[in-house]
Amino acid sequence: MRYYLSLGSNLGQRARHLAQARILLQKAGVRIIKQSSVYETEPVDYLDQPWFYNQVLEVETHRSPIALLDLIKGIELKMKRRPSPDKGPRVIDIDILLAEKTVVQTSRLVVPHPRMSFRNFVMVPLAEIAPDLVHPLFHLPVAELAGMTGDSSRVRKVEEVQHLQAV
Ligand code: AMP
Repeated sequence: MRYYLSLGSNLGQRARHLAQARILLQKAGVRIIKQSSVYETEPVDYLDQPWFYNQVLEVETHRSPIALLDLIKGIELKMKRRPSPDKGPRVIDIDILLAEKTVVQTSRLVVPHPRMSFRNFVMVPLAEIAPDLVHPLFHLPVAELAGMTGDSSRVRKVEEVQHLQAV
């Protein structure tokens, strides 16, 4: 089954944490089909914390949505050395955004991710790798939804940030 995952980190070596999460996913047999650029993004919910690095992956695995959630939680636990406050700074956060046309609504897992279409840090990288993908509940392509987030937080590609810092 094909999934879209969102990765985020805003503590320590952010790019390295995203890379480590990708490696741990691959070691567990999850195939990465596409990966977006890494974006540096302004925090949204809890503003007094460092900016994040975010990335979206298209992956393939035989796992069910709940089995993939278990794997993701295991990877987060392995990578997190200390517990982080809800919506606060974190070494790694992995969310399941979409699972093809599957809709999941349980106490542990909600897919499509209910907040994805309101967040630039998700929709900008997702639109980079899957602009024509249609959201199974909103019936609109990702490129269109990315322009309708209502979110004013800033999102920029990390290469661009590094370029700006170099000049
Ligand atoms: P987080 O704040 O990302 O660490 O996630 C907290 C909890 O959200 C997890 O333990 C999951 O049980 C739950 N959750 C619900 N829907 C999702 C989803 N689509 N992806 C990841 N976690 C989810």
